Amino acid sequence: MISETTLEIDLSALKNNYAVLRSKIPSKTLLLAVVKAFAYGSDAIVVAKFLENLGADYFAVAYVSEGIALRNAGLKTPILVLHPQSVNFKKAIEYKLEPSLYSEKVLTTFLAVAVEMNQTAFPVHIKFNTGLNRLGFSTSATADTAAILARESALSVKSVFSHLAASEDLQERNFTAKQIDTFSKTCNVFEGIYGKVPIRHLCNTSGVINYPEAAFEMVRCGIGLYGFGNSAKNNFNLMPVLALKTVISQIHDLKKGESVGYNRGYIAADSKKIATLPIGHADGIGRQYGNGVGSVNIHGQKAPIVGNVCMDMVMVDISQIDCKEGDSVVVFDSFTTAEQLAESAQTISYELLTSLSQRIKRSIIES
Ligand SMILES: *Cc1c(COP(=O)(O)O)cnc(C)c1O
Repeated sequence: MISETTLEIDLSALKNNYAVLRSKIPSKTLLLAVVKAFAYGSDAIVVAKFLENLGADYFAVAYVSEGIALRNAGLKTPILVLHPQSVNFKKAIEYKLEPSLYSEKVLTTFLAVAVEMNQTAFPVHIKFNTGLNRLGFSTSATADTAAILARESALSVKSVFSHLAASEDLQERNFTAKQIDTFSKTCNVFEGIYGKVPIRHLCNTSGVINYPEAAFEMVRCGIGLYGFGNSAKNNFNLMPVLALKTVISQIHDLKKGESVGYNRGYIAADSKKIATLPIGHADGIGRQYGNGVGSVNIHGQKAPIVGNVCMDMVMVDISQIDCKEGDSVVVFDSFTTAEQLAESAQTISYELLTSLSQRIKRSIIES
């Protein structure tokens, strides 16, 4: 029974997805679980602890503050920080959070902090740009970078990595093949000069699904753990971990010509029954879902959002549905998924999930 807006986190689905992704890679390949952005809108601490117990080899977050929260919660597994900011480098070292070093400037700055803090062999990860053009050393800087790192005892390169630009898009197969090849060659040059062989990793979830031959020694999985693969049609046996549920606060009977919500966004073409729900754009259901674009499910029937999405509420058309105030409403679950709702508004599951506000109550389910 749902009595307020609730995000259910299904740990058995998470366990299933972890096993599915593991089954796609060789048994010796490490699995890094990406738990940035509150573990894709869920609950990073709950998810990371659960995955740590299942044997996840590594975690990744975007920022140092996210890593600190995990350390404060008792996580012991190595944590890679994908996009650390230099202002937080000291904290990163204090909390044993391993930075991605992606440019000479970032490397030099981090090195200076590590030396100042008397570190030896502090674990770092070197990121190369192989085509995404977001973060990463130029591959032409590989030899110089490896040479700098080879003579610095304060740092130890745990891994060399890069990120695929279009792993989910098989139309871009040739581009991806080129990225894989560039990465592989870059690693060889790096290892030759650095003298040790760090872990290599390139694939995200779609990479694991479409290019398992490029798993190298580790893969980085985010969205797949939460239940989504490349597309609604191509989700393998992944199961959505998150279900967003709410309740009907109030029902209004509208006469023809009456309107709903701000700016009279919806005008009833004839008599209608409208339900108000306690969830709005401040909860992560953006205004793009308004005016008939998105819908919810009530007793298995579709109720479109009418009018403009408010900060704390949406109104839905329940004219054809037998329901009453206090009844449960499904915004998304494993049947009508977050991916489908996201697609209705031309966005992706990643955006919908990570937009879910921290004020929504989380509830852990182990079905
Ligand atoms: C977010 C992120 C991932 C996870 O990608 P998914 O598609 O969610 O599996 C992997 N690597 C990097 C560098 C990322 O930023």
